[in-house]
Amino acid sequence: MKPSFYDLNYSDLEAVISQNDLNPSVASVLFNWHYKKKETAPCQQKISTHSSNFFQENFDFSLPEIDTVYESEKDRTVKFLFKLKDHHKVETVLIPFNNKYSICLSSQVGCAMNCSFCFTGEQGLKRNLTTSEIIGQFLQAWHWLASHRPGEQRILNIVFMGQGEPLHNFDAVKKACEIFLSQHGTSIGIQKITISTAGYIPGLKRWREEIPGVNLALSLHSPFTEKRNELIPLNKKYPLDEVLAYIDEIPLQKKQFITYEYILIKDFNDATDDAKKLGTMLAGKSAYINLIPFNPFPGSRYTCPDWDTIENFKTVLDTFKIPTLIRGTKGDDVLAACGQLNSNNKT
Ligand code: SAH
Repeated sequence: MKPSFYDLNYSDLEAVISQNDLNPSVASVLFNWHYKKKETAPCQQKISTHSSNFFQENFDFSLPEIDTVYESEKDRTVKFLFKLKDHHKVETVLIPFNNKYSICLSSQVGCAMNCSFCFTGEQGLKRNLTTSEIIGQFLQAWHWLASHRPGEQRILNIVFMGQGEPLHNFDAVKKACEIFLSQHGTSIGIQKITISTAGYIPGLKRWREEIPGVNLALSLHSPFTEKRNELIPLNKKYPLDEVLAYIDEIPLQKKQFITYEYILIKDFNDATDDAKKLGTMLAGKSAYINLIPFNPFPGSRYTCPDWDTIENFKTVLDTFKIPTLIRGTKGDDVLAACGQLNSNNKT
């Protein structure tokens, strides 16, 4: 099988070009063609026939196949089920805001973290996605918008909050970020990409050294050890205080902050004491809190608190002067909201 063109970052492409004595200008033409113009057929313009033939003969330009599209009738969220070459499936979500979109990408088939509140974890980890499979989710979603909602193909934010633990598949995620960020390609702004982690310290170290400008979100979910252990088993290996201490040492860029995600689960982590402890823990940091009302899924053991409890939790956090947002549950009618992604789901 030929390697995928979409596995090459810009410097990989330059290396292929120089090793094969092709014209160095081909690199920028091809990135422009596939990532700015978003053409999926091999390029036959502005490069020699020799170069064009070389790429057609040696690289695969196909994208992951869209198996099913679910459109929310409530809020226009779109969920894609992709079928990969080995027949594994992953999901991707387009979340609309002001006629633009954020895209929520998957980084693995399933997930090894086994968080008790997350539908994806029930699948276990099947395998890592390749860079081309990550980039492919973005390009296919863009093409779907171009044909189904013409004029709306503006995907301005990328969040790695779909299936999988992105820091557990660092190499492929890093390369995908490099392609997204490349000036020659999609040129997404560096602060428009966010990687969400359950707190995988080896990956955090690499993030800090290798792609520090990409934003980080930490799934915190409880400031108390026992509760966090129940929610995120990874906490037993990499406890929250070590993760927070590590994150605190990271020099942030101007206007950069860390997002702390907090799922609100009824009668579990939604009390005033939880909010006070969370506020004490994060006060004074460059922090932004995203409160996520728990999204139920078939067979889930938790439920979502009522609206008053959610608002009360935010009011307590406000006293600590930490900016806090209650994240809406877009797309929940098509199981596209946070934690509802499970490509084995037959419902
Ligand atoms: N593994 C990464 C990214 C995937 S989860 C991480 O743990 O951060 C992305 C976000 O969805 C996380 O904040 C996660 O905690 C949240 N999430 C998972 N299941 C959920 C559910 N059932 N309801 C609401 N949010 C959920």
